Amino acid sequence: MIVLGIETSCDETAAALVDDQRRILANVVLSQIEDHAPYGGVVPEVAARAHLAHLDGIIRQALAEAGLGLDAVDGIAVTAGPGLIGGVAVGVMTAKGIAAARGLPFLGVNHLEGHALTARLTDGIEFPYLLLLVSGGHCQLLCVDGVGRYRRWGTTIDDAVGEAFDKVAKMLGLGHPGGPLVEAAARGGDPRRFALPRPMIGRPDCNFSFSGLKTAVRRAVAGLPQPLAAQDVADLCAGFQDSVAASLADRAKRAIAMFHVEHSGNGAFVVAGGVAANQMLRARLSAVAEAAGMRFIAPPLKLCTDNGAMIAWAGLERLRLGLVDGLDCAPRPRWPLDPTAAAATGAGV
Ligand code: ATP
Ligand code: MG
Ligand code: FE
Repeated sequence: MIVLGIETSCDETAAALVDDQRRILANVVLSQIEDHAPYGGVVPEVAARAHLAHLDGIIRQALAEAGLGLDAVDGIAVTAGPGLIGGVAVGVMTAKGIAAARGLPFLGVNHLEGHALTARLTDGIEFPYLLLLVSGGHCQLLCVDGVGRYRRWGTTIDDAVGEAFDKVAKMLGLGHPGGPLVEAAARGGDPRRFALPRPMIGRPDCNFSFSGLKTAVRRAVAGLPQPLAAQDVADLCAGFQDSVAASLADRAKRAIAMFHVEHSGNGAFVVAGGVAANQMLRARLSAVAEAAGMRFIAPPLKLCTDNGAMIAWAGLERLRLGLVDGLDCAPRPRWPLDPTAAAATGAGV
């Protein structure tokens, strides 16, 4: 079984082919970073137009790299949300067109489910597992019980963690997207120079908060001579990243304890989403998991940030279970993995 996956929910135009032996036959990602660079962030209208201009070519390239025609494909999967609605609509309409023309099953995939199931593509792990989803729009701890079966144990009460990286990078004049730039700058920095808060540590829940930390960085910047010296930037990045790591590690420990109450086996602790590309965070979280006797899984960097392979795989998992969507499937700007928990907090995340 082979599925074509299409991803256009943010600023990557991506297409990939995966099979049911967990092989990635092609994985093409076109980043729009340069299109958005002059604006210091992703501009939805610019993103949608760029997806429209490039998606056909990216799909053709994926098929060519896999050495396959559409006749070899068993299903068309596409991110149907959550994300920037213009881009999502471009992907969904394209996927529907191919599915209708070729008479193939159509799979409208939740982008977050793509991130969440990547560890099953890369490492073939079984359900249930504990997931820390850390991305540009989300920061959540979830118990993954099965395809489409998520229980959210914690979420951010303000900013997403990737968003905090991006905003701190902007304050420090590093550019966009901020995560990799903050990580690189932090390598030459002293994490102890600035006394930054370590949010939520010791709280009896699994929630997150990053806006106070972000404000503390802003205050520290305001107290320094301008323009900032390179060492000041490095020390602030190192301090910020260290506080994020301490907070994520503490929250993860709580969730691991909850997981162990439910499940007697040790299980797996998975970290996924763009922020999971951060080496320092991976090392800290891996130590937490190992200390608790859990297997630690973080996908290869290319599969942490947005890509088509994760959408193709989530689509394949759904296709195997017969969870096919109709061509009336609507693009969704918001689409929580655990709708019950999202409704309870009044947030769409
Ligand atoms: P979502 O998945 O929540 O819809 P998204 O798709 O925009 O959001 P991803 O592509 O999964 O987000 O991740 C992008 C985010 O990851 C950005 O905020 C980026 O700064 C962050 N990021 C990427 N690499 C790193 C890194 N090395 N360290 C920290 N953050 C990183
Ligand atoms: Mg992106
Ligand atoms: Fe994402």
